[in-house]
Amino acid sequence: MKIIAIGRNYAEHAKELHNEIPTEPVLFMKPETAVIPKNFPFYIPSFSNEIHYETELVLKICKLGKNISERFASSYFEEITVGLDFTARDIQKKCKDTGLPWEKAKAFDGSAMIGKFINKKSIPDLKNIHFHLNIKGDLKQKGNSADMLLSFEKIISHASTYFTLKQGDMIFTGTPAGVGPVKEGDVLDGFIEEQQLFSLRVL
Ligand code: ZN
Repeated sequence: MKIIAIGRNYAEHAKELHNEIPTEPVLFMKPETAVIPKNFPFYIPSFSNEIHYETELVLKICKLGKNISERFASSYFEEITVGLDFTARDIQKKCKDTGLPWEKAKAFDGSAMIGKFINKKSIPDLKNIHFHLNIKGDLKQKGNSADMLLSFEKIISHASTYFTLKQGDMIFTGTPAGVGPVKEGDVLDGFIEEQQLFSLRVL
């Protein structure tokens, strides 16, 4: 299983990190070992002083595909959830400044929280999905799939040009604005509409 993630897929988030809006989608990956096991907390790694949450809609790929055209892309996922793309922002900044790859900042153990999947048919309009993150009960980040620069179909099509998609692969579809740091003792709760799909302690 692999995780493919897209960067800068919401204009307001690209702005808050002073990034250009890309003309070509920014893709990166996380390995299977990045996924936080069920009922485990998130442990803040010792190598970073600035771990950020990024709340994102996550798709689960349901069949094998390569060079998938946009018009068939929606048949490649049946389930969706909300997740966290944990990012060591201090390390990512160093990587960006020196033009180095992002893995240490994005693909470390525990860097992927994936909520409980729900069938996409239970969502009335996939182009208008509200999702949000609460920390200790306070709203910290919210987004809507309507604001994505690239649709789910475009992401799947583009990613499959480079990487064969396999059943069980996950696609993180980008974070809206409002990213921020986590600290020990936080409890992070993720929602699609009013449905809670994960609760995660930070230690
Ligand atoms: Zn992200």
